[in-house]
Amino acid sequence: MSDALENLLSETRRFAPPAGLAEHANVTSDAQPADRLAFWETQARRLTWAREWDTTLDWSNPPFAKWFVGGQLNVAYNCLDRHVAAGLGDRVAIHWEGEPGDTRTITYAELLTEVKRAANALTGLGVGQGDRVAIYMPMIPEAAVAMLATARIGATHSVVFGGFSVDALSGRIADADAKLVITADGGYRRGAPSALKPTVDEAVKLCPSVEKVLVVRRTGEDVAWTGKDLWWHETVTPASDEHEAQAFDAENPLFILYTSGTTAKPKGILHTTGGYLTQASYTHHAVFDLKPETDVYWCTADIGWVTGHSYIVYGPLSNGATQVMYEGTPDTPHRGRFWEIVEKYKVTILYTAPTAIRTFMKWGDDIPAGFDLSSLRLLGSVGEPINPEAWIWYREHIGRGECPIVDTWWQTETGAIMISPLPGVTHTKPGSAMSPLPGISADVVDDTGKSVPNGGGGYLVLREPWPSMLRTIWGDDQRFLDTYWSRFDTMYFAGDGAKRDEDGNIWLLGRVDDVMLVSGHNISTTEVESALVSHPDVAEAAVVGATDPTTGQAIVAFVILRGGVDGDTEALRGHVAKTLGPICKPRQILIVPELPKTRSGKIMRRLLRDVAENRTLGDVTTLQDQSIMNLITAGLKSGTSAED
Ligand code: ATP
Ligand code: MG
Repeated sequence: MSDALENLLSETRRFAPPAGLAEHANVTSDAQPADRLAFWETQARRLTWAREWDTTLDWSNPPFAKWFVGGQLNVAYNCLDRHVAAGLGDRVAIHWEGEPGDTRTITYAELLTEVKRAANALTGLGVGQGDRVAIYMPMIPEAAVAMLATARIGATHSVVFGGFSVDALSGRIADADAKLVITADGGYRRGAPSALKPTVDEAVKLCPSVEKVLVVRRTGEDVAWTGKDLWWHETVTPASDEHEAQAFDAENPLFILYTSGTTAKPKGILHTTGGYLTQASYTHHAVFDLKPETDVYWCTADIGWVTGHSYIVYGPLSNGATQVMYEGTPDTPHRGRFWEIVEKYKVTILYTAPTAIRTFMKWGDDIPAGFDLSSLRLLGSVGEPINPEAWIWYREHIGRGECPIVDTWWQTETGAIMISPLPGVTHTKPGSAMSPLPGISADVVDDTGKSVPNGGGGYLVLREPWPSMLRTIWGDDQRFLDTYWSRFDTMYFAGDGAKRDEDGNIWLLGRVDDVMLVSGHNISTTEVESALVSHPDVAEAAVVGATDPTTGQAIVAFVILRGGVDGDTEALRGHVAKTLGPICKPRQILIVPELPKTRSGKIMRRLLRDVAENRTLGDVTTLQDQSIMNLITAGLKSGTSAED
């Protein structure tokens, strides 16, 4: 992309915060603080520190930041001990729902006891500060216990999503040089036990650094056993539940986590302790307006993604939240499972992803209509741009037309939410992440790094360091510098395109890598996709720019229809031209049954571009389902497309 990004879509709908919410909101102003560092010091004081910091930010060696230098704290203490000490031990921390319907209710006191036992067990296995622990688990409470126990003893975890293969797992274990792997025999997915241990066995053979493998028994299926294996119930359960949390340096490494691999080979992002927890905790409090005494919060992400780290484990638990944790898929045993869970636990705050919302749209309005969703008071979205029509559907069909929606922009690299409405303050616009949170300086700039005026589009950047920023790419400082800090001198380059509307609000426009250059115009994937999704026949769309002899690139669209419609590709092409202008009319529209997605559910446009341009596919290790690519390629060859 050389010139600025076009601003094509205009949206006039506005939604004010509900009066009741605004009146009691945790945060009542979205103004930027005059003194950013003082603001973050105040937020850091929401946590309990064993020793206060001497320096709030050390930015003497950019882009290698140090926050709260000299400060000491224990992450697990902040998430557990201090709540129990405050008399909240009987509060439910986790309402856990297994996919087969088995349940567990775990209070803060119980969670603390289990984490203490696990911490003692890990120490007994020779794990300590400076060591790495790989965690490859289903969505069971022990996954959170494993993370918190690792943090409690000052070690560093690397959680690997439980759907990854031997190669991806062994690569991540080796990259981190992990000493211990924590896993389970398996978990339940789509109505059946799904084994994890065989994958670990194969991976560990390739990773000599691994000394022990700690195995939770979840499914009870037979598993092969090696000399390195230990059962959780024979190692953690009998361990002592006396454990005093030692404080660690604010910059002690807390975790390594790989990005989703949407645009390229995943990057191993390193996060540290004090700044990360400060921002994860503050944003969870501010953006979700969490009232720990009354709310029941549910984030549907997997613990293997950063959303699971910051908004299932560290943010909510540091705030003393009561939350739901669900093991399985949204369609097991039926397509109303999420809504059944909302009804059962009277969930008040729901945080999910556009990919899920578009799937629910595809399945039909009657499914959520069959459940009592009246407990909900706030909805959140993360992971991809949310198309305005999907936003409206979410508000109408899940939020009864009443719940505010917080569209939260952030990345594995940012560690916590950066751009989002504040539910008690912001008048939201469907499809916009609105404004940088207090303390965050996000901007949209042109090629030369200058802010674009209102109404303009360009690159999303972060001008100032923030507490939960990545510290580096694990073991690869050079890639850290090249990826984020070389595009612009002193600003963090997020890799996303964005625009600022006439009121100055920010709209995310998809990846800079995916921008299409059509007859000299830089067109974002998001705006064309949103135009397609605004047609009543369309549930989901992905567009790419394919080389074209006359226009440089031409738009090729891949479209999933809503349940029960036939879809007229000519009409869809006309609809896009009418909504955004003739320049955006797709050259070709393919109706497809599914789109290639990462295991975290994001559309992988680079693979569609490879298909549209007849190339061999790039890195597919993070692709959810290889067979989808075969279906799409077959459809392209058989010509189920419309062309001028
Ligand atoms: P990789 O960096 O390996 O390509 P990834 O960027 O998908 O993978 P994540 O860190 O999981 O890995 O995702 C962050 C990205 O997700 C953001 O850069 C942005 O493109 C997208 N994203 C997240 N939230 C939003 C949002 N609310 N609106 C628009 N885009 C979002
Ligand atoms: Mg990324």
